Amino acid sequence: LEIVKTIYEISQLEPMELSQVALAGRSNVGKSSLVNCLGGRKKLAKISSTPGKTRSLNYFLVHPDEFYLVDLPGYGYAKCSKAERAKWGQLIERYMTNNPWLKAVAVLLDSRLSPQKLDIEMTSYLKHMGIPVIPVLTKGDKIKQRERAAIQRQWRDLLQYDYMPLVVSSKTGMNRDKLWEILAQSANG
Ligand code: GDP
Repeated sequence: LEIVKTIYEISQLEPMELSQVALAGRSNVGKSSLVNCLGGRKKLAKISSTPGKTRSLNYFLVHPDEFYLVDLPGYGYAKCSKAERAKWGQLIERYMTNNPWLKAVAVLLDSRLSPQKLDIEMTSYLKHMGIPVIPVLTKGDKIKQRERAAIQRQWRDLLQYDYMPLVVSSKTGMNRDKLWEILAQSANG
């Protein structure tokens, strides 16, 4: 996993001609931790003490499968200004529309929370755009098996999938390899 490009502004977006799978999620859902966990390194994505600080869109090249894992800026940071939020929305929208290289978006969801409004909006938006959604429940080490199963069922039903979303933990490495498998399959399948 190697970072190849960082984007802050719409004007910096350009076609990146390789299959892409993006990672989206509310700030603080554990996205930076997951990127680092996937990369097997500590400092790939900055784990910010101030959530919402990472407003950039980062392309990581995945070897040897040869696709981009695209880390999207986190959404829903409460202390973020209206202008910043609008800017985020425009960047994401521009990235996602007319991007034939984008094969799927892994939406990270906090496994301790019942489905949140913003997350439901994000998954609906993607569905509307015809972009496959890979639901990923984060911080799996923090909840008990029974609660985990309940939230998995809630998301499965909401998304009308016939399988349970994957639960991961960046802390313990739970389902890291399985997630890699799903991401690579989505990129190249
Ligand atoms: P981001 O804003 O989505 O990038 O979230 P971060 O990766 O910065 O994580 C937010 C907070 O959740 C940090 O305090 C992390 O240490 C914690 N965190 C992230 N992933 C996990 C996990 O799998 N297990 C536990 N227990 N904590 C996690």
